[in-house]
Amino acid sequence: MAEPILTVDHLVKSYDGKTNVLDNVSFAVKPGEVIVVVGPSGCGKSTIAGLISGKNKKFNGRLTLSGVPIGDIAESELMRHVTVVRHNSYLFKGTVRENLIMADLGADDEKLKAVLIKVNLWDFVSENGGLDMEIAEKGDNLSGGQCQRLCIARAILHDSEMYIFDEAASNIDAESEGMIMDAIHELAKTKTVLLISHRLFNVISSDNIYMLKDGEIAESGTHEQLMKKSGEYFRLFESQRKLEEFGKEDADVCREIS
Ligand code: ADP
Repeated sequence: MAEPILTVDHLVKSYDGKTNVLDNVSFAVKPGEVIVVVGPSGCGKSTIAGLISGKNKKFNGRLTLSGVPIGDIAESELMRHVTVVRHNSYLFKGTVRENLIMADLGADDEKLKAVLIKVNLWDFVSENGGLDMEIAEKGDNLSGGQCQRLCIARAILHDSEMYIFDEAASNIDAESEGMIMDAIHELAKTKTVLLISHRLFNVISSDNIYMLKDGEIAESGTHEQLMKKSGEYFRLFESQRKLEEFGKEDADVCREIS
């Protein structure tokens, strides 16, 4: 059996020294796995991402990457091993090429084009000047979904062993969301992926799902196992499904009226 890349062992985190945002959270991620942490807003998902990426160093418990405590790994080394993509990852004013190449200084145009094809952005980029297309500060001349796809392309180029996608497909159009999830699943064939999401439709096909509630792991298992339990995960899944159906009906009514 492969050794875990990431081990999260009895993790406890408090920001104010009084209440625990994370309380005894344990899980492990093996090479090539897609592990998901889900749960409602405010339950501590991003705190986990922040601790793993070394952004926040104060915690109790053990957090190791390939067996080495994360606190003992130099920041530059940690950044080489773990790539984090957040829902608002940063794009700077410059060309598409400049925004991408920072993740892989040796990449030639063919490599950059190939990675844009992977995230379904090449057609748009090629119609707008190709790799020389100018990106405005914070990607203001792109849609939210296009921004995120460009950020994912950059992350893929970084070629680290492990990826954390922290709500990377959230708050964007459904088409981009699907494209991003496809790119993440493609990446997961060769990399280890920790996916953080409040939306459960994105996580159905992952290897193991950890459902966080009030900072604790309330349930874990595959989508099928968790649905059978008819517990927290089931309830959140059903409430999201109903909300989406309601949203679709609303959109249909609007179409009929207009
Ligand atoms: P999630 O990602 O599930 O929405 P977070 O990990 O962002 O949850 O937040 C969990 C809890 O920790 C929330 O109550 C949030 O207000 C609190 N929190 C997050 N970051 C900080 C911080 N830097 N300082 C103080 N409290 C924080």
